Amino acid sequence: MTSKKSYPLFSAVIAILLIASVSLSGCLNTDDPADEHDHGHGDQNAAYDPLDNASVHQIVNGSKILVAASVVPQTEFIEKIGGDNVIAISMIPSGAGHTYDPSPRQLEDLSKADLYMQLGSGEPFETDNMPTFKELNPNMTVINSSKGIALIQGDSHIWTSPKAAMTMAENTYKGLVSVDASNESYYRANADACIQELEALDAELTTDLSGLKSRHFMVYHPAWGYFARDYNLTQIAIEVDGKEPAPQDVVNFIGIAKDNNVSVIFVQEQVSVSGASAIAEGVGGSVYVLDPLAKNYIENMREVGHALADKMS
Ligand SMILES: [Zn+2]
Repeated sequence: MTSKKSYPLFSAVIAILLIASVSLSGCLNTDDPADEHDHGHGDQNAAYDPLDNASVHQIVNGSKILVAASVVPQTEFIEKIGGDNVIAISMIPSGAGHTYDPSPRQLEDLSKADLYMQLGSGEPFETDNMPTFKELNPNMTVINSSKGIALIQGDSHIWTSPKAAMTMAENTYKGLVSVDASNESYYRANADACIQELEALDAELTTDLSGLKSRHFMVYHPAWGYFARDYNLTQIAIEVDGKEPAPQDVVNFIGIAKDNNVSVIFVQEQVSVSGASAIAEGVGGSVYVLDPLAKNYIENMREVGHALADKMS
């Protein structure tokens, strides 16, 4: 009897300890630069919006297709091309990073997905989680978003180039057709409109970035490699092995920035900007807060183009 009674108390103590340790590690994430290798984002800001009951009902009764993806910009392409037929979820919520652990609620939602649009670009989150996702949902079709894109070794951020995004859009169309062939013409028309929008963005960026005096820019976290490659720019990353630069690195980076005429440094909202600010001060440049995982893809990319064009021409 006594031992039975003690179980609920014991569980409660364990639960409290678990909650305490989870929130503690959340705090440590912000304070300890060694823990910032989760791609420059603090996971404590992660905000996953779970499927509501109405959506679950539509997915279960087959009136909507649930498409899962790894990052938020992918969900934007999926929603544009899938239109009214789809619901899209991102397994890395906005505000989270590449070492993010999906919550039980996310896994529950994922178990209902018809299709997973994988980045397929060596993304660490996918390496860590795809086996579990496939085990959890063996009927889910998995399609590679980056098929046809020349990959950059060690850089999984394919979506930061609008040129690569066009290929991602085409692959998204193929993915949707593979699970719902009856609506092929609808997806084709939406994909064409999405690709046209990306072509307009690409033309605008090409014009904005063509006459720059300096073609080097600095970033805290190296998320802009595909963008840099496709617009003939050079990205210099400040983050060293996922960590904030040490004071001696900052001095070194000021020298590199001066040598390369760097006047723009991009940082992400979630990370400490002290190192970036010190470098910007040292060269009389500007720090821009920019989230590679933001929604409003077209606007976000325009902002990148304008920031570079304003400061570097
Ligand atoms: Zn990243």
